[in-house]
Amino acid sequence: MTDTYARTASTWRNWAGNVTARPARVESPASVDELAEVLRRASGDGLTVKPVGTGHSFTATAATDGVLIRPDLLTGIRDIDRAAMTVTVEAGTPLKRLNTALAREGLSLTNMGDIMEQTVAGAISTGTHGTGRDSASVAAQIRALELVTADGTVLRCSADEHPDVFAAARIGLGALGVVTAVTFAVEPVFLLTAREEPMTFDRVTADFDRLVTENEHFEFYWFPHTGNCNTKRNNRSAGPAAPPGRVSGWIEDELLSNGIFQVACSLGRAVPGAIPSIARISSRALSARTYTDIPYKVFTSPRRVRFVEMEYALPREAAVGALRELKAMVERSPLRISFPVEVRTAPADDIALSTASGRETAYIAVHLYRGTPYHSYFTAVERIMTGYDGRPHWGKIHTRDSGYLARAYPRFGEFAAVRDRLDPGRLFANDYLRRVLGD
Ligand SMILES: Cc1cc2nc3c(=O)[nH]c(=O)nc-3n(C[C@H](O)[C@H](O)[C@H](O)COP(=O)(O)OP(=O)(O)OC[C@H]3O[C@@H](n4cnc5c(N)ncnc54)[C@H](O)[C@@H]3O)c2cc1C
Repeated sequence: MTDTYARTASTWRNWAGNVTARPARVESPASVDELAEVLRRASGDGLTVKPVGTGHSFTATAATDGVLIRPDLLTGIRDIDRAAMTVTVEAGTPLKRLNTALAREGLSLTNMGDIMEQTVAGAISTGTHGTGRDSASVAAQIRALELVTADGTVLRCSADEHPDVFAAARIGLGALGVVTAVTFAVEPVFLLTAREEPMTFDRVTADFDRLVTENEHFEFYWFPHTGNCNTKRNNRSAGPAAPPGRVSGWIEDELLSNGIFQVACSLGRAVPGAIPSIARISSRALSARTYTDIPYKVFTSPRRVRFVEMEYALPREAAVGALRELKAMVERSPLRISFPVEVRTAPADDIALSTASGRETAYIAVHLYRGTPYHSYFTAVERIMTGYDGRPHWGKIHTRDSGYLARAYPRFGEFAAVRDRLDPGRLFANDYLRRVLGD
């Protein structure tokens, strides 16, 4: 390992701009061997280590004052196994590169989140998810993982090989080692028909269970200060593909979701009293639309308006009660909320620290335009969500500590035991991990 990989330290900043860090060193290893050497050197120098993705987490999960490892040179597809229907990808690969490469091969992941800017390792490490009745988070689609642990060992895990590590490391919070490759289950590329339809809050909440069970992927957005929602149902389709027209797609995705929304958010931040009127006008401007396309084009869209976010995972049956409480709280408070509240679901999964671990889940996410004070709103929301046994998204703002999280996750101790074994000296520690994992 030569110093050509070490960069002069400077300030690292996340996407939302609410977390900054000044790492002692920045390294971009180009191979597993170089990475192992970076870990050995850091350890010898008494420094901690943090691999980062694209900084799309709102928490300080990726922040470090030790050695920051950039993923730039650990990218690309390693292998496609058509018999096993798996793809093995270097951990620093951006999801968008994975999605487009898979589409070219006639393949796709089954489910994904709202955007595809994140790296593969970054996305899985905090439990990034979309919405699904039968299909769960990005990490739940993993079949095998390769990670380099604190002592430089390259460890491969799967359901058959080191199954205890596999259960923990798929959502590992960057605490167990540096993930270097991920093997995903894939399937032949398919078409999804998206149906977007405005609906009232009362109707969506009354029909929530039916809408979730009748659709493969159901989600909705509620516009605070109004009784209006926009719903989205994605279901597999025999085709033909019918993408949104270029003009109408641009109007919906760029102008309304980004351009005009940006102006509305800036106006709302400058004149908070105008927010309820803006919310009423913009939620009424929505219209129904239907289109059919390949999965990543239906699931993901550009998000250019910067915001901060908190998201809680609740037992699914608690979602409607929590939402009604959230709506009542906003109505009786002086808060002015310019961003819609997003509601999604996931089936139970078998990953120790997955927000959907062992239980059918509904996600409730609240957002605020970057630069807007968020503490009062997020504190009030968090109070409601924790009253329903909520689990915070690991990559989104929350104030929970290890005492709360150990109660929220029945398999917390199992994760801690794997961590004690793989990283007894806490090479991968940072302040965030000390708070959420306890030491
Ligand atoms: C606009 C926007 C939209 C979003 N949409 C969604 C969504 O739809 N659903 C959802 O669930 N979340 C969503 N998120 C959250 C986001 O997906 C997660 O925070 C994700 O972890 C970010 O990935 P990243 O590549 O930026 O990783 P970072 O934020 O840079 O890092 C996240 C964690 O991964 C660890 N890590 C990174 N690389 C490695 C590695 N090689 N080995 C081990 N650990 C590693 C880091 O140490 C850190 O702990 C969104 C965020 C934004 C800003």
